[in-house]
Amino acid sequence: MENLQAVAIKKLEERGVTIHDMALLVYDLQKKYAPDLTIEDCENMVEHVLGKREVIHTVLTGIALDVATEHDLLDPEINQIIKSDEPLYGIDEILALSIANVSGSIALTNFGYVDKTKPGIIGVLDKLGKDQKQCHTFLDDIVGAIVSASVSRIAHK
Ligand code: MG
Repeated sequence: MENLQAVAIKKLEERGVTIHDMALLVYDLQKKYAPDLTIEDCENMVEHVLGKREVIHTVLTGIALDVATEHDLLDPEINQIIKSDEPLYGIDEILALSIANVSGSIALTNFGYVDKTKPGIIGVLDKLGKDQKQCHTFLDDIVGAIVSASVSRIAHK
């Protein structure tokens, strides 16, 4: 399991997302409710969330689909839909919800919020996708869900 977590963290880094990037978003979302919160606390929580089997599986699945799409390996019809990040596709959000779902209602409201506002690294991924330089159709939602699950777990502590 520890090995698989290391693989997931490495894959995220290869796709341009670090634990620190996600911790910064967690910090921004939660600092006004927890004045003593530090970036390090947030990094620890993101790492904790990334230790969960369902989270690791979602990260690896989502990144695999993004990379396969980038290389045009899927059937052309669905490859084009994922590559262009069609607003009505929605399976990317559904997959990411498997992460937010296990962390309660605070995770779900934050998931919706970061999907709309696209702060920090989520906005960077979204822009790279829109420019069709890379495909992050699944990853932007997964990062949003990891951040939201981490916020929720800090709120409940
Ligand atoms: Mg998406």
